[in-house]
Amino acid sequence: LVEVKKLKKNYGDTEVLKEIDGTVMPGQVICVIGPSGSGKSTFLRCLNMLETPTSGQVLFEGKDTQKFSENELTTLRERMGMVFQSFNLFPNLTVLENLKLAPIRVKKMSDKDAEEKALALLKRVGLGEKANVYPDSLSGGQAQRVAIARALAMDPEMLLFDEPTSALDPEMVGEVLAVMKELAEEGMTMVVVTHEMGFAKEVANEVWFMADGYILEKNEPNEMFDHPKNPRTKDFISKII
Ligand code: ATP
Ligand code: MG
Repeated sequence: LVEVKKLKKNYGDTEVLKEIDGTVMPGQVICVIGPSGSGKSTFLRCLNMLETPTSGQVLFEGKDTQKFSENELTTLRERMGMVFQSFNLFPNLTVLENLKLAPIRVKKMSDKDAEEKALALLKRVGLGEKANVYPDSLSGGQAQRVAIARALAMDPEMLLFDEPTSALDPEMVGEVLAVMKELAEEGMTMVVVTHEMGFAKEVANEVWFMADGYILEKNEPNEMFDHPKNPRTKDFISKII
């Protein structure tokens, strides 16, 4: 579904991504781990072209995303939904309005269809009764589940998650991971930046360890966490356990 080839990203003189290669197959769940500042967020943003790579390629369904027109880029970002650490819900809109906005504006869905879809998605993330409240009355875990529902409202091909649980109180982490796990089981393709090892072990097909601008190690989660090969991976994993 996505192929990354010799991806490089500089900010001025800072080389954040030096050479990243990787493939995300349909239905796969990839967890990306690595120290702060190693470029995990930058990598996700290069996947949906929120950042333009300095060099190298990101292919989506075999097509070079750097050759995409503005319209194609908009479509790309619809098809690769993104969920952030900080939810990014619109505070002046109700939960329902948050979910309806993009389908109506971008997909030209009718108000009625968008509403039906939004209500179904809210049920799916366990928040059917929260349709008419404003985001500031939600707990962090609820807000993040709404953010996931909002991403799903666009019928994405795949989802990118950037540390979706790291801003949450510990007791709310589980409810968000449970929704993500369900999505994975339904076959959603996901790239998840997270240090939640339990989630990675249970759900991920592969874990990628990123440091110094490279993916230093890729492996299936149990191998990665229990028998890391690269000394940098070992050191990092010993710190997050
Ligand atoms: P964290 O775990 O803290 O979220 P990260 O692995 O996601 O870190 P990035 O946010 O991708 O790391 O940042 C990688 C490096 O790139 C950092 O040194 C950061 O300061 C730098 N950086 C990120 N975005 C920009 C930008 N827009 N302009 C300049 N430098 C940036
Ligand atoms: Mg980050």
